[in-house]
Amino acid sequence: MPLFLKEPMRSHNFGAGPCTLPLECLEELAEEIVDYKGIGLSMLEISHRNKIFEDIHQETIDLAKEIYNAPPDFDVLFIQGGATLQFGMIPLNLYNAKNKAGYIITGEWSQKAFEDSQKIGFSSVVCDDKTYTRTPTESELNLTNDLRFLHITSNETISGLQFHRWPNVNIPMIADMSSDFFSRRIPWEKFAIVYGGVQKNIGPAGMAVVFINKKLCNDFNSGLPNYLRFDLHIKSNSLYNTPPVFTIYTTNKVLKWMKKNGGLDAIQQQADLKSKTIYDVIDQSNGYYKNPIEKNSRSQMNVIFTLNNSQLEEKFLKESTLQHFVGLKGHRIVGGCRASCYNALPISSANALAQFMIEFQQKNPL
Ligand SMILES: *Cc1c(COP(=O)(O)O)cnc(C)c1O
Repeated sequence: MPLFLKEPMRSHNFGAGPCTLPLECLEELAEEIVDYKGIGLSMLEISHRNKIFEDIHQETIDLAKEIYNAPPDFDVLFIQGGATLQFGMIPLNLYNAKNKAGYIITGEWSQKAFEDSQKIGFSSVVCDDKTYTRTPTESELNLTNDLRFLHITSNETISGLQFHRWPNVNIPMIADMSSDFFSRRIPWEKFAIVYGGVQKNIGPAGMAVVFINKKLCNDFNSGLPNYLRFDLHIKSNSLYNTPPVFTIYTTNKVLKWMKKNGGLDAIQQQADLKSKTIYDVIDQSNGYYKNPIEKNSRSQMNVIFTLNNSQLEEKFLKESTLQHFVGLKGHRIVGGCRASCYNALPISSANALAQFMIEFQQKNPL
């Protein structure tokens, strides 16, 4: 029996997170929600020690490594508390008088990560140009000899800038990749830790995925409360306590969807295309729409833009809502507009937004 008798209404979801999810995954969830494959239980109810879930859990870990091409040196952890908890958890586990980290500040999220690390105490800022309109190169980093790690935020979700060229440094990097997670190939040899909340690109809210290189990170602090201990999560394969079962199960579906549809390379091509479609409208608008980011640092995930004045922006946002565009309002601290083009955003949504922007400009000349 078809689950939906008519096509479900789907908005163009440009929200910055939680993200849009593939329709076919949502439909599968709907189908399985009451009775998962005839077992008489929902994934919302099942025990995390049930073999059926344990298999899904392991498969999700394996899929995450496979799709992201993570080398065998990396352990994969599912930890609740989002990327935000990792801002403190990583320093708590790794930093000490011998192991300090330098932070590249490129916007709000790297600033937040740094501030939390400061509470632990063994970190410093290696670069902060305060403009947040471009990503720095290695020559701009003040790397002192006492640094063992370099923390980097690969994509700044609020200011809309992204590293397209990784700094060439001789210490391993710890990267918050929350908002461009699983959206492109990454040079794993440069990283000690790669982490991100799943809700920006690969699942619903509820956990972070943390990839830890066990060769580069081994002397973890074991004097922490248990949930905060990386060594315990590693030893128990992220099943130390009750994990976010439903989040893991849904992330599993999204990862399978990615695999089926061409994996990272296809996702990256689509990210290029979707963001270019919108940047082209901005660049060809004769200044009607403005993006402040240097072209080679522009984010392919979060396209930010402003209009000439706040009244026009309000009108733009209001009319966009009537056309079923969701989430185009910029972050409250920077204002303006933001179109987040995460992995599951259909190309047709990017095209629809481009068309809407062109028509809005025609109907509302300056
Ligand atoms: C959203 C975001 C975070 C915070 O993620 P949570 O999972 O909500 O804690 C951290 N860093 C970046 C780059 C983000 O985009």
